[in-house]
Amino acid sequence: MEEDELYRKWMRLVENLEREGIIKSEKVKRAFLRVPRYKFVPERYRTYAHVDEPLPIPAGQTISAPHMVAIMLELAELEEGMNVLEVGTGSGWNAALIYELVKRDVYTIERIPELAEFARRNLERAGYKDKVHVIVGDGTKGFPPKAPYDRIIVTAGAPKVPEPLIEQLKVGGKILIPVGSYHLWQELLEVIKISEDNRVKIKNHGGVAFVPLIGEYGWRE
Ligand code: SAM
Repeated sequence: MEEDELYRKWMRLVENLEREGIIKSEKVKRAFLRVPRYKFVPERYRTYAHVDEPLPIPAGQTISAPHMVAIMLELAELEEGMNVLEVGTGSGWNAALIYELVKRDVYTIERIPELAEFARRNLERAGYKDKVHVIVGDGTKGFPPKAPYDRIIVTAGAPKVPEPLIEQLKVGGKILIPVGSYHLWQELLEVIKISEDNRVKIKNHGGVAFVPLIGEYGWRE
């Protein structure tokens, strides 16, 4: 399929997400239109990139469904200049969307080196090479060199909120994280840090399905 056709289909999906009230803000819509998902999926899935479902990426992982990414980005309430850490780089797509919303360097951490490479290649081709920094490591420990963060967006399901992520958050900042069972059933939590001594307020945004967050403060391999 030609790029024009892929983009037309992508635009249609974005308009549908807006009609359904999933994309709520002009800025999230703009980011979606600037960063089409087909640039971040393996070649053989490009023609399915506009389908609102997760798709396979290397190493048995997934690129999330567009509606899920939109829900999390709307809840994140990102603003220009915010310092954001993403845990679970996958394809790099969500990190590029985050860049379009904050317009400053984004840090994203991935535990599988092969996927970090896949994401770096996608990001380079899409024009985000010096804007999105992919780190290989265990994101359940956060990324202390660039802390504190205004937002931490976790795109894999955890057994509980990893303590290091709360520590690396600014007071008033928030974490979005799926928390629940290992096998594809979690609740999407919005965790707002309310004091320097790591007290939090938690809002539950309902059922979601993510691959597991594996690491020292996540699930064991
Ligand atoms: N945000 C991604 C995107 O835009 O394509 C999709 C992420 S995918 C649903 C979840 C990712 O989290 C996988 O790539 C997985 O390897 C990664 N992951 C799991 N545990 C992790 C950890 N402790 N640290 C960093 N990444 C982790």
